[in-house]
Amino acid sequence: MTFNKNWWIGIFLFAMMAPVARAEWVQAAENIMGTRVTLEFWNEEPAAAQPVIDAVLAQMRAVDAQLSPYKSSSELSRVNAAAADEPVAISENFFKLLEKSLYYSRISDGAFDITFASVGRLYDYRQQRAPSDADVAEKLPAIDYRLVELDAQARTVHFGHPEVKIDLGGIAKGYAVDRAIGVLREHGVSSAIVTAGGDSRILGDRRGTPWMIGVKHPRKPEAYAVRVPVQDSAFSTSGDYERFFQDGEVRIHHIIDPESGRSASEVVSVSILAPQAVDSDALSTTVFVLGVKRGLELVNGMAGVDAIVIDGGLKLHYSEGLLRAAQ
Ligand code: AMP
Ligand code: MG
Repeated sequence: MTFNKNWWIGIFLFAMMAPVARAEWVQAAENIMGTRVTLEFWNEEPAAAQPVIDAVLAQMRAVDAQLSPYKSSSELSRVNAAAADEPVAISENFFKLLEKSLYYSRISDGAFDITFASVGRLYDYRQQRAPSDADVAEKLPAIDYRLVELDAQARTVHFGHPEVKIDLGGIAKGYAVDRAIGVLREHGVSSAIVTAGGDSRILGDRRGTPWMIGVKHPRKPEAYAVRVPVQDSAFSTSGDYERFFQDGEVRIHHIIDPESGRSASEVVSVSILAPQAVDSDALSTTVFVLGVKRGLELVNGMAGVDAIVIDGGLKLHYSEGLLRAAQ
């Protein structure tokens, strides 16, 4: 049998129309936890992408429902309402997050402190309202991480002062990003990036090349101060430009120095590289409060952690690991 012209056309059309399973990058985005959540992953089987996206976003919404300070039904709100009166039983992952938060408080001498909220909740950035000096002075004794008493046996939390409130805003997005990466892994994904606001984690690489992650220029919204190649790592940035208002010369923003109850003002941006986003997130907030010298000392003493700090004069400072890598 010989193939005539019609045969060839037939074979060609069949090849064009056959549903060829082609691997590709898949993207999705949604507003969760009061910020933009984006994910991108390499999908070996395009037909199966949507259930993976749904599972990741559902996981992030679940973290928000548990940890949001704005939802009265969240576990966090339940704890804030009752833990000053009596020990409150909490779920295992919440307990672990509190333990991790207290760990960062201890190693930073209280620079990272989830009880910042005892004063922090008096700020309203949208309404441009800050508490008076008298209000800050009144609530300041309730900022002290040692007032958060954990009982591992009973898995409870109790506050040792009637005015204590906690907020996990400095660590929750990183935690959510780690959980999202966990979901992607369970679905067999091995190359991905998940971002929630300033917190990202990269699984694998961009198929042969690292992802280039930009550190925003702290004073030029559309520009980058520096770009960093990242693979198989988390990357978090805390900046004083994220949530703020101006009171004359003073920038009132969302990262609070637990010693004063006022916005930390020595640096304007801190980026952290660490294996997990829960750690890069907590550390970006921690180093922001500690400032250049104490912050870089802390990071230089931690294996597998690096930092880029931008000070008030917009000068960049790098941790030892990054300086070595650049040589
Ligand atoms: P980030 O989003 O990582 O830059 O962290 C900023 C958030 O952390 C704020 O919006 C607060 O919810 C929370 N936060 C502010 N100050 C502190 C602090 N000193 N320790 C722990 N969390 C803080
Ligand atoms: Mg952070």
